[in-house]
Amino acid sequence: MKNNKNKTLIHSQKGKLLFLGSVLIIGGIGFLFPEYLSHLLSMDRFFINITATLLSMVAFIGASLSIKCQHCGLRLVWYALSKKSLGAWVGWLLRVEECPRCEKSNV
Ligand SMILES: [Zn+2]
Repeated sequence: MKNNKNKTLIHSQKGKLLFLGSVLIIGGIGFLFPEYLSHLLSMDRFFINITATLLSMVAFIGASLSIKCQHCGLRLVWYALSKKSLGAWVGWLLRVEECPRCEKSNV
């Protein structure tokens, strides 16, 4: 059963990944549209830029450090970012069933 989503390494950490991914997207929106958001929220553009940058950094670092293999502790987001191509790391992370280091799965 290769396509069983319950067997992916990140299955039990999906809530954390979804939260940190959402924070990263919100930070990205703030980073890309600071002028629009400063008008919409009546806040200084500089504050929007700093907040967006901090949110993105915290989400990126949090995901890199906290999404791990439950058996050996391999940091899976960091592994995916450093070992997989730019277009393939997200897909790999969401589908990986066997840890590349300890070769264990969540079955
Ligand atoms: Zn492992």
